[in-house]
Parts: sequence; C-alpha cells; structure tokens
Amino acid sequence: MAPPIAAFGLLLLLERLRPLRRRTEPSRPRFLQNLALAAAGTVVNLALNELLVVPVARRAVERRRGLLQRSSLPHRVETALGIAWLDYTLYLWHLLTHRASWFWRMHAIHHADRDLDVSTGLGFHPVELALSIVARAGFVAAAGVSPRAFDLWQSAILTSSLFHHANLRLPPSLERLLALVVVTPRLHGIHHSEVEAHRRANLSSGLSWWDWAHGTLRCDVPQEKLTIGLPDARRSGKARFVRLLALPFSGRSPRAG
Ligand SMILES: [Zn+2]
Repeated sequence: MAPPIAAFGLLLLLERLRPLRRRTEPSRPRFLQNLALAAAGTVVNLALNELLVVPVARRAVERRRGLLQRSSLPHRVETALGIAWLDYTLYLWHLLTHRASWFWRMHAIHHADRDLDVSTGLGFHPVELALSIVARAGFVAAAGVSPRAFDLWQSAILTSSLFHHANLRLPPSLERLLALVVVTPRLHGIHHSEVEAHRRANLSSGLSWWDWAHGTLRCDVPQEKLTIGLPDARRSGKARFVRLLALPFSGRSPRAG
C-alpha cells in the first residue's frame, strides 16, 4: 500500500500549488470528515477482503476455476486481464450505484461533498464499500482473478481514486493525453457536478476506456461552470460523523442520481 500513501502526500502538496477549482467550504472539517469515513472504510476493506475476496481468489488459482485460470495465457497477460476485469466491473458497480435508488442512498454521501479534493477519494459510506466487496468476490470467482492481480488492482484503484478526485490543475495538453488511458481530475470533476446529466457521465474509476466504450464519456463541461455536490443533499462539513453514517437510512436521501 506504499504507492497510495505516497500519492496522497504528493497530491496534497500539488493541490496547494496548482488548484483546479475554487473551494466553497473550509477544507479542515471536510478533510476530517472524509478521513473518518476512510478509517471506517479501511476496517471494512481489510476485514472483508481477507475473509472473502482473497480466499475466493486463492481457491480459484488452486482449483483452476474461472475463465482466466482455465486459459493457458502467459502469467503476465492473465494478471493484466484480471486487473482490467476488476476495473470494468467497478464501472458497472458505479453505474448501479447511480441508477438504483437504494444504492444511490449510500453513494450520495460521497457525492454530497461540496468540494472535491484528494480527501474525497477516500470518503465513501462503509456500507457501500461492504456491498461492493461482496459483489467483487463474485466477479473474482467468475473470472478466476488471482490474489496477485487483486492486490495490484487494489493498490492501483486507490491511487487512481486519490488522483482523479484531486483538486489539481494539470497542463491541459498533459491531461488530454492522460485521459486517453486513465480518469483525470477534470473528467471526474464533471461526474461530481450538481447537474444530474453530468453525474451520469464519466463513471470509470481507473481506465477511462469503459466510458469510451459505453458512450458515457463527457469532456465538454468547463470546470469553472461546475457546481460540485448535490442540490438536494448538501453535506455540511460540520455534520457529525455518526449522523453522516445514518443519513442513507434516514429517509431524507435524494432520488437516484
Ligand atoms: Zn458517482
């Protein structure tokens, strides 16, 4: 997990030097709120991955179960395909969290952040994370993803989440080049817009190819015109952590977004 930790420190520094969007809220309370969500999420991640996903991946390799394990592909190709499969299924999961109202209740906590920065990349409801890990165990079993591919993907997706949520102004030519392969801060900024039509775009989390393939890619909204957050569920940076966790179950969550 060294790459995500190093990325977090580096992006925090770069955000101060080259901010992309103007902040609308004091950053400290939001930052602490996202770190508290990250702490709860880390416990869920560690526990469920060790208890569920890793044993499923080990069994797939030992018993040669799943498409990748039954193939005779070179080891590196099998690992690369396993990583791409996990990334694609995360796109599908993300789509589901926006289309199904019950899942949106959880995911809306992440979208209700009124600013977007590296800390937002860690701010997910722990129940959403738990459900996504249970689904992932099924995806790992179906394709026969190895524990190594799963480990590499986890590290890559966390680093990617920190990067594309960062409030970081990259040179436009560099960002255009990066966006051909991975999700960038400008692309993901559009996904965090208050406007529902924008939120339905740019659902990829690692490789940007899934949005290209499904016609959900949008690059046409300038960052200056974006209002980040949700119109009907503004998450105050002052909201208590327990209240935040209870929000999806309070009956006041927004409709599917
Ligand atoms: Zn989303």
